Amino acid sequence: MDPVDQHVHSHHSFDCQTEPADNIRQAIAAGLSGISFTEHFDTHPEEWPTCRYDDRAYSATITDLRRRFADTLFIGKGIEVCYQPERMDFILDFLEQHDFDVVLLSVHWAGDKAFHRRHHWAELTVPQVSRLYFQTVLEATRLARDLHRRNGKRVFDILGHLDLIKRYTHRFRETEDVINGQEELIDQILTTCLEADLIPEINTSTLRTGLSESMPGPMVVRRYAELGGRAVSLGSDAHSAADVGADFDCLCAHLPDLGVHSLACFEQRRLRLLPLGDAPR
Ligand SMILES: [Zn+2]
Ligand SMILES: [Zn+2]
Repeated sequence: MDPVDQHVHSHHSFDCQTEPADNIRQAIAAGLSGISFTEHFDTHPEEWPTCRYDDRAYSATITDLRRRFADTLFIGKGIEVCYQPERMDFILDFLEQHDFDVVLLSVHWAGDKAFHRRHHWAELTVPQVSRLYFQTVLEATRLARDLHRRNGKRVFDILGHLDLIKRYTHRFRETEDVINGQEELIDQILTTCLEADLIPEINTSTLRTGLSESMPGPMVVRRYAELGGRAVSLGSDAHSAADVGADFDCLCAHLPDLGVHSLACFEQRRLRLLPLGDAPR
């Protein structure tokens, strides 16, 4: 079964100009069996005024795309929720009141620090900022687990770009070595994902911007499999149509070697497993 790209942006995200139909055409050209849009939902008070998320317009686009590309491939309506503990009641209410195929939970901030803004963490060393990032990811996964237990169902489906901090240490400090010394925290994050029924994403955007591996890379994926993880989600994080499904073929070929034998896909929040290559050995 061909993969689904479950992390794609269009002009319904503030930082993207792409026509949604162009993403669909590229998904078809890349041989994907589906594509899920995951538009930004950034509720930090500094970002919310410019976030531009408009559920009515977004839903109308999805309805139109499904009509135009009917039966060609699966088209999902998803959302990338930026983890903001202070705004969680608002976020949870919003998710409750709107329909999605898939909900992505992503860490871009810790308290008043945005990792994508160089001056927000200028005083921190790479190990310090990496630790802060992973601690926040752990906090986010614990929240997902506790909500799952309380509600008896998933509130979040996928953990976005588990080690995103390396995108910014690479950009601002010329190193992508963020895992070293953080192994225990990474183990806790992966274990909590399993408890939360939260599927880690493998985000391929770093492979297009000069880093040596996806987010997370093979070492973390292997560790996830060792801890009992069986399936991952694939996401290009495309902000331009040409990047939809980028580097998926190569990744799918290598995942069984790392112990991952299925891709996790979500449709109306229901999990479907797509087998990859050979059966488990
Ligand atoms: Zn993100
Ligand atoms: Zn994204």
